[in-house]
Amino acid sequence: MNQKSAIPKDASAVILLNQSGDRILWAQRNPQLAFLGGYHAFPGGKLEATDRLVKIKNCTDEDLAQFIACAVREAFEEVGVLLVRGGEKLTKGQRASLHDDLISGRMTFAEILEHWNLWIDATDFFYTGFWTTPKFSPVRFKTRFFLALCPPKQEPHAAISELQNVEFIRPNDALNEWKNSKVLIAPPVLLSLKTLAENLTADESGFTQIKYDSKIKDQRLKNITKKLLENSQAADGQIRYMELNSRVTCFPLKTETLPPATHTSCFIVGRKKFIVIDAASTDDAERNVLHALIDSFIEKEFACQAIITTHLHRDHFGGETVLQKHLQDKFGLSIPIAAHRLTAESLAGKVEFQKFIAGGEAFDLEDENGADFQLQTLHTPGHARGLLAFYDAEFGFLFSGDNVIGSGSVVIAPPEGNMKDYLNSLERLKNLPNLRFLCGSHGAAVSDAKGKIESYIAHRLERERKILKAFVNGAKTAREIVEQVYTDISPALYELAEKSVAAHLEKLYEEEKI
Ligand SMILES: [Zn+2]
Repeated sequence: MNQKSAIPKDASAVILLNQSGDRILWAQRNPQLAFLGGYHAFPGGKLEATDRLVKIKNCTDEDLAQFIACAVREAFEEVGVLLVRGGEKLTKGQRASLHDDLISGRMTFAEILEHWNLWIDATDFFYTGFWTTPKFSPVRFKTRFFLALCPPKQEPHAAISELQNVEFIRPNDALNEWKNSKVLIAPPVLLSLKTLAENLTADESGFTQIKYDSKIKDQRLKNITKKLLENSQAADGQIRYMELNSRVTCFPLKTETLPPATHTSCFIVGRKKFIVIDAASTDDAERNVLHALIDSFIEKEFACQAIITTHLHRDHFGGETVLQKHLQDKFGLSIPIAAHRLTAESLAGKVEFQKFIAGGEAFDLEDENGADFQLQTLHTPGHARGLLAFYDAEFGFLFSGDNVIGSGSVVIAPPEGNMKDYLNSLERLKNLPNLRFLCGSHGAAVSDAKGKIESYIAHRLERERKILKAFVNGAKTAREIVEQVYTDISPALYELAEKSVAAHLEKLYEEEKI
């Protein structure tokens, strides 16, 4: 079953500079949000129909005008900063009252500006290009980015519950947090930070106390804008992979996976010494972009230690042998393909494995500076008997495979799947020391790994309670139980749900509860 990718929605975001021009504003998205929950981001959001109604001075391009209006509205909604002319006469209390009018929907943003005689001047905004959320994401945006200065005497703050930890930060400090896996950052923000870190230093010519209405004259802002725009244009706004921290790349590859997922994440962990996990795509075009990235590693004399298959399912293998051959033909390397022995047995005749991972051993890897770190291997049966997960204990980063995924639900289908084993595996993962983030084989990384695993366990136990109740009440076939218990899924998924019911019944039987 191959799903179509979601159509990107139009959006705007603003890279807000502080008055002395050496820091940018970022904030953490609420971990509960479905889209990039817990990630650090710039203020921004979806274009609204009323953004067209906002009048913008010095802008003849109607399309651009609505995106500027969207950026200004979002900045006001999210962090309470009013990027308008004429706003200096408003008191803090008045701004709060306007904010309330906007959030409550009493007035549109256009009406607010008109009523208070405020206006947006397009020359206050530097368009730095657009970025489109990758195809693997169930929700996608095509976001236009603008660089703007924070007007004097306005203090950004979390003005809505969707955001927290709003702060101005030096781009270099933000990058260090990302490098050391203290935060999660989406690719457009990371790419912008890298460019800003190189160009936004508070040196002698730094823009100390730039006047809000004269910044267009500032050559440095124009230069930074040019560089940001060039990056976006060079990539055509497309993102192919995500660097989760300084030593992990997540490369979603199109696979024949289960909806709503469309891709399986291939992970490249380590740099000077690295491994590749689940090079799964059977599609040549997909394989080629992955190979190009791995080639660039080899060309930097980074050493590949192994190509690993996490488990037997068809969306997790299919590209490993081709990658092995590619590295042999192009560089004369012989890289072993590795998996758990149970996986190797199941895939006999399809994939030839040279190395076995029992779980408990560790890979000695190196980051780009040659500093070594360990990646622990974990045998976590339940979803599949030979399923492997991996843990970077120093960074608290778990590669959870198909145990826990960013979007969609995990199928436990006997006899390969076993519910009791699955819940035991989740317990083990939940209790990993120093656990902070996780990234599964499908969907985005998760900022609250422990909370996510706990919610998985709670969800399964709740389902089990309902299944037991349905069974006691006389539902005798798996289908009857599904119809009573899985009231929140479409009938198209009943067949999968029946397998989960069978897994729960098997566990209940083993525990002598039925
Ligand atoms: Zn699987």
